Amino acid sequence: MAAQDAESAHQNWWPSPPRHVDIAIVGAGVGGTALAAALTRRGRSFRLWEQNADATAHAGQGFLLLDAGVRALLGLGVRPERVGRPVTGVEIRDASGAIILSEPLRDAFAVRRGDLIAALQSAVSDDAVIGRGRIDSVEMHPQHSILISRARPIGVANYVVGCDGIRSAVRQSCFGDRPLRKGRVDELLFPIRDPSVIEALAGRLCKWMDRGRHLAIGGLHLGLGNAVVFLQFPSNGALDDRGTSALISEFKDVFGGALPPSLVRGLATAAPYHWSAHDLDPATSIVRDRVILAGDAAQPLLPFTSQGVTNALTDAYDLSYALTANSAEACRTLLGAYASSRRARAIRQVRRGREIEQDFFSSSLVPELPLALETARGL
Ligand SMILES: Cc1cc2nc3c(=O)[nH]c(=O)nc-3n(C[C@H](O)[C@H](O)[C@H](O)COP(=O)(O)OP(=O)(O)OC[C@H]3O[C@@H](n4cnc5c(N)ncnc54)[C@H](O)[C@@H]3O)c2cc1C
Repeated sequence: MAAQDAESAHQNWWPSPPRHVDIAIVGAGVGGTALAAALTRRGRSFRLWEQNADATAHAGQGFLLLDAGVRALLGLGVRPERVGRPVTGVEIRDASGAIILSEPLRDAFAVRRGDLIAALQSAVSDDAVIGRGRIDSVEMHPQHSILISRARPIGVANYVVGCDGIRSAVRQSCFGDRPLRKGRVDELLFPIRDPSVIEALAGRLCKWMDRGRHLAIGGLHLGLGNAVVFLQFPSNGALDDRGTSALISEFKDVFGGALPPSLVRGLATAAPYHWSAHDLDPATSIVRDRVILAGDAAQPLLPFTSQGVTNALTDAYDLSYALTANSAEACRTLLGAYASSRRARAIRQVRRGREIEQDFFSSSLVPELPLALETARGL
C-alpha cells in the first residue's frame, strides 16, 4: 500500500466512539495473525490492531519451525510445505571447513517470515476487521479493558491478547515490565535468491564457526526459491565501529576458503537486515484477569534457541481453545494451564539461550548443542 493510502486508511479507520469488541489482538506478526486464523476457524469474533501498514515488513527474514510449531500450523489449516522447506539436519563446521557437529533434524521446516504471515493471513476470514495503528497502552477494569492510542480510547474489549512482540506495550502497561537486556551477539541477515546457494545448503542448517574470533556464518534454504544467510558477531560495537562492508570483509577473510563460493558472492549482492537480539528474565505472569500475553510479548528469547516462531504458533493455537471455551469457568481453567505451562517453558528456553550465548564467547572446540537438536532428541 502506498504511504499516502496507508495514512488515509489510518485516518478513516479509527472508530469513534471506541468500539466494543469481544477479543482484541494487539500485533499482527506471526502470533497475532495465527491467533486471528485460529479464531476465524472457531467462529469467534475479534479485532486485530497492527502498527505497521504492512504486517509482513522485513519479510525476507527466515527462521526454523520446530515440530510443535509444524503441528500448530497444520492445526490452523496451513500445510508447512506450502510456506517452507523441510530441514533434515544441522551441520556445523570450523573456519577451515572441517565438520565439528552433524546431526539429523526431524519434523522441522525453514520458513520465510513474509510467506508464513501471508499464508496465515489467507486463513483469516475476509470480514475479520484488521486495523492499523499503534496501541500505546491498555487500561484494565474488572469486566473489560480499554485500548489507548495517541492518548485516545479506541477500543473496549472483553479479552486483550498482547501479540505485540519484544517491546510489548500490553506487557508494559498491564504486567509491570522488567528491563530488556541487549544480547551479546548480533546478527546480519541476507535474503538470497540464488539457486546455487540453495543447492550448497542442501536442505540443512549449515553453520561455520571461528571459536577463537567469536564469529559464525550460516545459511538456511527457506523454500519457494529463497534462502537466508546470517552472520553472528559480538554486539559490542563490532558493526558500529567498522560498518557493514568492513564486517563482511572480515567474514570473507576468516571463512572465505571454507564457504561455498556462491554464498560468498551472495554477501556482496544482498542488502542485509541488522537484527539485535534481546533477552528478558522469565515472566512470572503472562495472564492477568482477561489480559493475556503470547509469543515474544510473553517471552522474548535470544536467537540461539530457534523457538520464537514455534512459541508464537503454539501459543496462538492453545489460546484459541481457551478463548472459545463454552463457559467462563472453563476459559479461566484453560488460561491458568496456559500460564503455568509457558512459565516452565520460558525458564528452560531462557536458561538454554543464555548458555549458548555464553558458549559463543568460549574457545572450546565443540560448540553447545543448539536447542533445536535437544528438542529433536527429546531432551
Ligand atoms: C522484523 C523482524 C524480523 C525477525 N527476524 C527473525 C529471524 O530472522 N529469525 C528468528 O528466529 N526470529 C526473527 N524474528 C523474531 C521472530 O519473528 C519472533 O520470535 C516471532 O515472530 C514471534 O512472533 P510474535 O507474533 O510474538 O512477534 P512478532 O512477529 O515480532 O510480531 C509482533 C507484531 O506486533 C506489532 N506491534 C508491536 N507493537 C505494537 C503495538 N504497540 N501496537 C500494534 N502493533 C504492534 C509489530 O509491528 C509486529 O507486527 C523477527 C522479528 C521481527 C519483528
